[in-house]
Amino acid sequence: MRSPVPAFPSKHPRKPGTGPGAIATLTFAIVLALSGAPRASAQPSPEWIRVAVVREDPEVSLQVQGRFTILTLQTGNPIQRGKRLAPVAVRAVPEGIAFGGEILRVWGLRIEPEPQATISLNGRRLRGAIEIRRQRNQTLLVVNRVSLEDYLRGVLSKEAPDYWPPEVLKAIAIAARTYALYQRLTKASGDYDVTGDVMSQDYGGESGEKTATTRAVQSTAGVIILYRGRLFPTFYHSTCGGMTEHARVMGDYDLPPLQGGVACAFCSASPFFRWQRRLSKADLAWALRKSVHGPIGAVSDFRVTKRTASGRAQEVTIVGERRTLWLTGFDLRSLLGFEHVRSPLFTITPAADSFVLDGRGWGHGVGMCQWGAAELARRGFSAGEILAYYYPGIALANLRDLVHQPIDVIGGPS
Ligand SMILES: [Zn+2]
Repeated sequence: MRSPVPAFPSKHPRKPGTGPGAIATLTFAIVLALSGAPRASAQPSPEWIRVAVVREDPEVSLQVQGRFTILTLQTGNPIQRGKRLAPVAVRAVPEGIAFGGEILRVWGLRIEPEPQATISLNGRRLRGAIEIRRQRNQTLLVVNRVSLEDYLRGVLSKEAPDYWPPEVLKAIAIAARTYALYQRLTKASGDYDVTGDVMSQDYGGESGEKTATTRAVQSTAGVIILYRGRLFPTFYHSTCGGMTEHARVMGDYDLPPLQGGVACAFCSASPFFRWQRRLSKADLAWALRKSVHGPIGAVSDFRVTKRTASGRAQEVTIVGERRTLWLTGFDLRSLLGFEHVRSPLFTITPAADSFVLDGRGWGHGVGMCQWGAAELARRGFSAGEILAYYYPGIALANLRDLVHQPIDVIGGPS
């Protein structure tokens, strides 16, 4: 088998005592067993996922093309059925939820479309059903309850360009499915499993779907990634800029597929492979003053004082007139904006009244590098080979085959 590995070192040394034995596991036997009933071939995975598509909005616009039922969440009883629902403003009001001019004395509603019907929320078509909950602060939480496979169709079109080669789209579909399932199994409580934005995975619903990305989801239906039979969070990112990062930057994760150090020169075609940002001393002082970090006075020095094994900024030191501040690379990106400091892989060069950040890559750098994966696909590697390159030691499995089998889920941040 061809391997993209040869010319590059693939691993940096692992710290002693942090091997797979140190991983906390939770068993979620019951969750996958839920789908034990015989299933139709058209529905390869009956798993559902709850996606928060609107949070903290006082009002949304809702429409249903086709037959639907509205139920209250309190009782589960239907309160309205219809052939179609013309666009209506749904608002949080002190007494409950206002549906156009009508005030319903409920805190929650479920809108269930019949199979051929579609819900539009704020102009975006969604598959599945939605739940609308009034929150304490008189805003609405809208959760799209959708099958995992339908969810992925709306994710992949947002997370990957549809003109990329089929094998990279399949690799991203498998990683996105695994990541979603991981989130679902580790977030059993609460009103939703994932958010419909980049904090989880970007989600466009049916409106965003594209033919090529949908094909990648369908052709990999049910396929997930396991490490020694365990489910783990398959982080991925846009562009690593040369080498992937250890997942400890994301939390308490330490297992071979996420230990980083995977050399990747394959993402050099990415527009974010290299970037530069000039930051004036005054802007830096101003950003700090407005932030939770507070004012530190005029800035005299700004440098990376600790780097991770992959070269990313682990600690930056900012020397101010009044005090010195130490930030993690993540905190610095959060302070200055993730769009401005695109990755923690950068050097800082002082200039007269500013600092120049020369950076590489976009994103945290953990797990699969999407631009690198796209290049590997162009060179003829299969989705499985691409995934095995970025997540060393993994195996692929199908949810279909795991139905009666307990699956361990590797623990998240403790
Ligand atoms: Zn890369």
